[in-house]
Amino acid sequence: MTSVTMTRDAAVGLDVGATTTKGAIVTRAGEVLLRVEVPTDRHAGTKSIIAVIEELIENAGDVDAQPVAVGVGAAGFIDAATGSVTFSPNLEYGDPEVAEAVRSRSGLPVVVDNDANAAAWGERRFGTAQGTDYLAYITLGTGIGSGFVVDGRLIRGYTGAGAELGHMVVDPDGPPCPCGLRGCLEQFASGTAIARIARAALKEGDHRSSILSFAGSIENVTALDVAKAAREYDEVARDVLAKAGRMLGVGLSNVANIFDPEVIVLGGGAVRAGEAFLGAARDQLARMTEAQRRRPMRLDVTSLAQDAGIIGAATLALDEVVQTERTQKRGLRER
Ligand SMILES: [Zn+2]
Repeated sequence: MTSVTMTRDAAVGLDVGATTTKGAIVTRAGEVLLRVEVPTDRHAGTKSIIAVIEELIENAGDVDAQPVAVGVGAAGFIDAATGSVTFSPNLEYGDPEVAEAVRSRSGLPVVVDNDANAAAWGERRFGTAQGTDYLAYITLGTGIGSGFVVDGRLIRGYTGAGAELGHMVVDPDGPPCPCGLRGCLEQFASGTAIARIARAALKEGDHRSSILSFAGSIENVTALDVAKAAREYDEVARDVLAKAGRMLGVGLSNVANIFDPEVIVLGGGAVRAGEAFLGAARDQLARMTEAQRRRPMRLDVTSLAQDAGIIGAATLALDEVVQTERTQKRGLRER
């Protein structure tokens, strides 16, 4: 039996990045009701997470919502079973037992997962990949993150460090990566990589590139400047983006070989680099897929954009609550 009330069941969803922490109240229908965005305190990860959660719970009544769970998506390696952060390169966690800390403060069930895993879940429930049980979500930003759904479940690995496409080595003699390896995909196809490759190209030769008129100087070049210049058919910019896109395509072909997804969804800021980048990735993937006589797969761009992580984290938490309730009911029946 269900009771009819005016308040809507919802969850708090958090997306904790290295620079900003974004949060919202998200309903079971994936509706985003309240938004909070604060700079992440790099030296106090757990504390800054709790502050945002408490603010959202406090104000949930204003939008007629009743949070019944909390979901947190955070950059780094997360042990989803315990909700603890095992490794985070850009954020210090005084208390890595994030789920336990939030649970004891809020009294609500808490789910903590990798940020890209959360976003993948959001895309599957409410975004571009709605309904599929086989999905790869790749986020292209400062770095490259990824979340994979296989057979309807998120792949997390034995220690929570699994399915990290960004650190798949595509050139063992390539540039060093903060992860400790060389030539990771992240060093060729992330926003940071696009900017670095463009700076190198400009230093080498063509100073007439319009990248410089957007950036002001070689040192200040960002991926966004490269994208803007590419839209004006700047040759240097288009060449940089085509190379990065080709490497991304190689990475996606590897994804196809390992996971055989139905849909690949691309998210993150670098997606805005547009066709010069994404078209090159799509062409490369198509060439490699065809060579293997694989079934062509859908490659799409996120429809939830910046909200994928928030919606995904909240929905993961709500799904967990439903799952727990089911298990409890089953337990009662079997008694
Ligand atoms: Zn790496």
